[in-house]
Amino acid sequence: MSIPFSIDLSNRVAVVTGGGGVLCSQLARALAECGAKVAILDLNAEAAEAAAEGLRADGLTAKGFAANVLERASLEAAAEAVKAAFGPCDLLLNGAGGNHPKGTTSKEWLEEADLDDPSLTTFFDLDPKGIEFVFNLNFLGSLIPSQVFARQMIGRKGCSIINISSMNAFCPLTKIPAYSGAKAAVSNFTQWLAVHFSKVGIRVNALAPGFFLTNQNHKLLIDEASGEFTARAKKIIDHTPMGRFGEPQELVGTLLWLVSDAASGFVNGIVVPIDGGFAAYSGV
Ligand code: NAD
Repeated sequence: MSIPFSIDLSNRVAVVTGGGGVLCSQLARALAECGAKVAILDLNAEAAEAAAEGLRADGLTAKGFAANVLERASLEAAAEAVKAAFGPCDLLLNGAGGNHPKGTTSKEWLEEADLDDPSLTTFFDLDPKGIEFVFNLNFLGSLIPSQVFARQMIGRKGCSIINISSMNAFCPLTKIPAYSGAKAAVSNFTQWLAVHFSKVGIRVNALAPGFFLTNQNHKLLIDEASGEFTARAKKIIDHTPMGRFGEPQELVGTLLWLVSDAASGFVNGIVVPIDGGFAAYSGV
């Protein structure tokens, strides 16, 4: 991977949740290339270990750990194992997150006739369990790992937490009220925690990615039969002034800037859009 610039993370321990996924495996790699010892945590233990193995194959320091960001006991076990392998956590990237079909409406707008169409999921059909899943995964899934790993940061210098919000936190996307609301909660929590931790020297900031093609949105954006962009994907591109999806590496510069005390030591509680101008564009 070509990183845009390097920062010195030697002797630093970075924990990346959701590190077996598309975006966070790349972000984990960037941290490792800057010298960090990287603990890759994921519900999918195989994906975590595969990502770590890929880093080790390139001479970097990484290890995969099974962990569920919604279960404190699982995170505490991972935190002990990370500490034993690498030492206490300096940097936490809360990357695990995502949407669920049960928190998603079929259509962008409700029309009266939709109420008689059983094939549609309207606002009235949304399953509270689906909404709860999405809120828990994104919000509690950032809060609980912060509780567990920030304990190890207290009293040490240069520690930092990075959350992953989304551009839909600024203005909700159609169809996905649960995911939009949950990411708005992540942005709000980023500010709250930055204030709360300001006297113990832990900075807390967030990335707000726009659209990046990954496993979690592949079906929404690419038509399986034709391999072409779906109507929704075309609409996204039309509303992205830069006219394309983002590449995972395009998150790296902001991450490195935010975790570097030398570069951003007085930056605290911000949510940085990385979205090709999507959030800035009114559509007209
Ligand atoms: P991804 O699905 O590739 O990766 C998510 C990873 O999280 C997976 O490896 C999954 O196994 C893991 N995970 C899921 N539930 C977990 C749990 N309970 N405990 C531990 N790990 C768990 O997704 P991605 O697109 O790389 O997304 C990474 C982050 O970026 C997410 O927070 C996502 O919401 C956010 N995001 C993505 C986009 C995008 O366009 N892809 C845009 C904005 C924000």
